[in-house]
Amino acid sequence: MSTRKIVIKGGTVLTFQNDRLVCDKLDILVEKDTITCIEKEIEVSSDMEVISAEGMIVSPGLIDTHRHLWESAFKGTASNWTLMEYLNGMLGGIAPKMSPLDVYLGNLLGALEALNAGITTIFDWSHIMNSDEHAEAAIKGLRDSGIRAKFGYGTPGTSVWEWFYESKKPHPVNAYDIKKNYFSAEDDLVTMALAIRGPEYSELEVAKQDILMGRDLGIQISMHIGGGSFGPKYKGVQKLDQLGLLGPDLNFAHGNTLNDHDFKLLADHGCSLSITPEMELQMGLGLPATGKALKHNIICSLGADMVAGTSGNLFDQMKTALQAERAIQNERHFQKGEMSEQLAIQDLDIFKMVTMGGAKTLGLENKIGSLEVGKQADIILVDSHKLGISPIHNTVSAMVLYAKEHDVDTVVIAGNVVKKNGKLVYQTTDELILECQNSAAVIMKQLNPETEPKMT
Ligand SMILES: [Zn+2]
Repeated sequence: MSTRKIVIKGGTVLTFQNDRLVCDKLDILVEKDTITCIEKEIEVSSDMEVISAEGMIVSPGLIDTHRHLWESAFKGTASNWTLMEYLNGMLGGIAPKMSPLDVYLGNLLGALEALNAGITTIFDWSHIMNSDEHAEAAIKGLRDSGIRAKFGYGTPGTSVWEWFYESKKPHPVNAYDIKKNYFSAEDDLVTMALAIRGPEYSELEVAKQDILMGRDLGIQISMHIGGGSFGPKYKGVQKLDQLGLLGPDLNFAHGNTLNDHDFKLLADHGCSLSITPEMELQMGLGLPATGKALKHNIICSLGADMVAGTSGNLFDQMKTALQAERAIQNERHFQKGEMSEQLAIQDLDIFKMVTMGGAKTLGLENKIGSLEVGKQADIILVDSHKLGISPIHNTVSAMVLYAKEHDVDTVVIAGNVVKKNGKLVYQTTDELILECQNSAAVIMKQLNPETEPKMT
């Protein structure tokens, strides 16, 4: 933890305070890991480091609540895959061949590229727990990057058939040892969650057992739900409700093909939803549930999901979520022979999802998600001088529709500066990329010895 005092001066602070939008020129004082003052003008003393934020948007760090970081070295392998091709190709093909070192490299690369794009907190949904060494490697990758994370301890990636097709196997009880050995302090930057298959990928009795294990461990439990035809086929939300298992500790990814009754159940029980719009549109999961989640007041947020298929920044996800929902709602008007008179979803709805919505999804709303005195100093500075984003007439639009990772100038996590002047503080990124390239090439060669992998 940093012992310094940092003052971030002269920027346009874009945040929520007591759930109200604030967009104003303000200075922010950070002491150790905490925001201790936000004022129009903070007087600088000799013990403060000054970060000039002139011409910058100063925003809470972005929060990605659903991503499989271990796949980060396999960019492009899944860009033309459906969900079924992903299950067989990634979980059936690549996952069993991953060594602990491969997992470490993927997680470190994935976390660094997230940091570089202004993501300060991530839920790492890690279904690559082939051994305890794999778990240790994934956790180390997260910790070495400096990111704030929930490590979602998943199932082994040793056999997609045994673990993901109506699986009869309960979640590994090694979760207890992993928690005891690696997650003793509650205020660590990396904490633990459970990433279970749920009723669409395991038998209902297994899903029940897994949820009860997560509750016994006292950690958040995440599962995929409502993906394509699996939603109506398994009726997962209603089945969990009938067993009395729904609760605010459950996080669901996707929810595309849930019905209105399901959404009402999620809202009534305080469950959260992680929407990953780009992968959902690609892989045949159905239309993103953004509008339905907002209509039902469900705690919701965004994730990039799978960097093997698409880019790992939330700017792309924000834009996709916004425009996909507009397309859905505009289409309804066209079908009735009407023109849309106004847009039913605004850029601000989406900005909320990657900040406070993300924090609430992870149960961390008292710590992160906004820039407020007493909260953790997870802060990003977005440079508004650059071509493509400038000139800015609407700060929220700049964040949701114009910004890219190269506009992220500075990233602070718990008071530690991890990106500065547009460059990651992490020293050996080039070497890491090379190691990841080689690690992925070896696995892809094993899977397809006839073809030289194209890694140019
Ligand atoms: Zn996923």
